[in-house]
Amino acid sequence: MSENLTLYQRRLDAVPRGVTNALPIFVDRASGSELWDVEGRHYIDFAAGIAVLNTGHNHPEVMAAIQSQSAKFGHVGFQVTPYEGYVSLAERLNRLVPGKGPRKTLFVTTGAEATENAVKIARAHTGRPTIIAFVGGFHGRTMMGMALTGKVAPYKQLFGPLPSSVYHLPFPDACRDIGEEESLRALDRLFKADVEPSQAAAIIIEPVQGEGGFLVAPPSFLRRLREICDAHSIVLIIDEVQTGFARTGTLFAHEQAAIEADLVPMAKSLGGGFPIAAVTGKAEIMDAAAPGGLGGTFAGSPIGCAAAHAVLDVIEKENLCSRAVEIGARLMTEVQAWSNEAEFACIGDVRGLGAMVAFELVKDRDAHRPDAELTRRVVAAGGQTGVLLLACGLYGNVIRLLAPLTISNALLDEGLSRLKAALRAGMAEQAA
Ligand code: PMP
Repeated sequence: MSENLTLYQRRLDAVPRGVTNALPIFVDRASGSELWDVEGRHYIDFAAGIAVLNTGHNHPEVMAAIQSQSAKFGHVGFQVTPYEGYVSLAERLNRLVPGKGPRKTLFVTTGAEATENAVKIARAHTGRPTIIAFVGGFHGRTMMGMALTGKVAPYKQLFGPLPSSVYHLPFPDACRDIGEEESLRALDRLFKADVEPSQAAAIIIEPVQGEGGFLVAPPSFLRRLREICDAHSIVLIIDEVQTGFARTGTLFAHEQAAIEADLVPMAKSLGGGFPIAAVTGKAEIMDAAAPGGLGGTFAGSPIGCAAAHAVLDVIEKENLCSRAVEIGARLMTEVQAWSNEAEFACIGDVRGLGAMVAFELVKDRDAHRPDAELTRRVVAAGGQTGVLLLACGLYGNVIRLLAPLTISNALLDEGLSRLKAALRAGMAEQAA
């Protein structure tokens, strides 16, 4: 048996099946946009550790920052004895998150904790119970994270009862004929049928749905939500966990809709591969929770804070926002060209924002016939052709491309040609 298979067998015996792996490939080392497995095989990373590595694997500045911090101290607990790195990172995010007026920032460790804390803060601020989220949205695997998430299998299946007072609206999806007007009408009906606006604490939305399939919220839709939240004193939570930190061509995706969020949960690429998450929001809302109501043992760890400072430096120095636009354009042009070829009638909608690019796999160019089986085969074939891919989408038929923003054009093109080979291999296997 190969080394990967031997390890995979041990993994099956030792780790519950509830945790899955995109590929049965064990990593030996990684650098930039490349990875090598325990058998020495080479991969180009279009998964970026699920949108965590906008600055690439082991960016030298990030590694230097965490090494220098760990030589001083690894953990003390901000709630025991604070440290400057936490405060200066909060000051930095308070400046960077779009909007006028004072902001404050809370650090936690994961994206789910960030969305949970945003909900806690919104409820404390408004004294109201209801949270409105979106079909296909993903906000984490904790109890409230699952309740907010708009997809049952596999995220909520078998885990109920979940926290109540959470409702889901349709997310605009041009490809399935759901326009922003339909979503807004659904909100209006919700206010008439189920909950009056005065009971709504928050609306939570991803500016581009990540796990939901890279559906982009139209800027006009985000602006309408902002107006509705203002009219009813509802807190607008913009979940930037997957979209944040230059991925979409701006530091935060909602900058492009020219709106201010009340609360912004973020995580993933903030730490450049090291766990740290945050909620930045309007100071008067952030201060609603009583002392002791927020925090966590590892929340805002010194190493996470040091890594995040380095990530923000790198994004600035290496112009990763404009690089995201270039990478996105290259990916979009190439995949769109494939979708026009007769050979690739399986490619449906190609979409995205900046370097957050995805495409649907469908049967016979029919947007209403998603092909989840082919999608699984293509991801698996990527393991053979040497490119790491991730599936997503409410119907499991979307391939998302999340190359690090530090990737060279040569590796990007090589990754694309390996993706094309994976598409061909997946199609051939399905036809057999
Ligand atoms: N929000 C969004 C938009 C996400 O994409 C994710 C993770 N995929 C989360 C929240 C949860 O983050 P974590 O897995 O770090 O808990």
